[in-house]
Amino acid sequence: MGKGVFNIHELAITEELLKLVLKYAEENDAQRVISINLQVGELRDFTEEWMQRYFDYLSRGTIAEGGKVVLKTIPVEMECNECMATFRADIKQADIKCPDCSSPSCRVTAGNEFIIESIGVI
Ligand SMILES: [Zn+2]
Repeated sequence: MGKGVFNIHELAITEELLKLVLKYAEENDAQRVISINLQVGELRDFTEEWMQRYFDYLSRGTIAEGGKVVLKTIPVEMECNECMATFRADIKQADIKCPDCSSPSCRVTAGNEFIIESIGVI
C-alpha cells in the first residue's frame, strides 16, 4: 500500500485501537487476537473494509495480526429543539428538519460513537 492512499484520521484512530487491543491481549495473557468488534457512529464515515486494511497494515508482526475487524454502524439520531421529538436522520440530506413540526433546529444525539464492544482473544 502506497503512502498517499492513507486517510490520516482513520489511520490514527486505527493506531489507537491497535494499542488498546494489544494492551487488552497482554492483560489477558492472550496468544492471539481473533476479532475486534466495534460500534461506530455513522457520522464518522468509517467502513469495515478500510478499518480492516489499516488494521492489517499496522498489526503486522504483532499478536493482533490477522485479527478480524467487525464494524457495527450506529445510525444518526437527532432531537428537535422545538418539540423534543427524536428521529433518525439521513446524513446525506442537505437540510434536516424535524419530521413532527418541520423545525430545522435539531441536534445530533447519536452517530459520533467509537466504541470497542468486545475483543476476541485466544
Ligand atoms: Zn420538532
